[in-house]
Parts: sequence; C-alpha cells; structure tokens
Amino acid sequence: MASDPNKCLRCGAELSSMGVEKFRVGGTSGGWDLLLGQMAELGEGLLALEVLACQTCRKVEMRVPTNN
Ligand SMILES: [Zn+2]
Repeated sequence: MASDPNKCLRCGAELSSMGVEKFRVGGTSGGWDLLLGQMAELGEGLLALEVLACQTCRKVEMRVPTNN
C-alpha cells in the first residue's frame, strides 16, 4: 500500500537504496533544526540519512537509517 516505505510515493515502483550519506548540520545552516528538531543535534554535526532512488521516475527520497 501507500505506506510501504520501500515503494516510491509517486509511481509505486520499488525504491533502491543508494546507501547512507552523512550530511553536515549545525553551524550557519539552521534549516535542519527547523526541519528535524532535536534529531539534528544527535550527531557531532553530521546527520546520517539513507538515500533511496526510484528506478522508474528517478525520484530520490531520504529517510533516517534504521540502524547505524
Ligand atoms: Zn517512482
């Protein structure tokens, strides 16, 4: 269904993981704090997000990885 985290929200195709990327947070970019709240303060200036790409429409999604 639409709640399947491994399905593309746009076209319903299977998403393929592109791995976990580390995004630098904090410093002068306060946008992450607004977007993610306290989650942006967990790491030492790095936020790990799993990147998933749809093979059909090439939409890219990001989510918090389930395990480090
Ligand atoms: Zn798609």
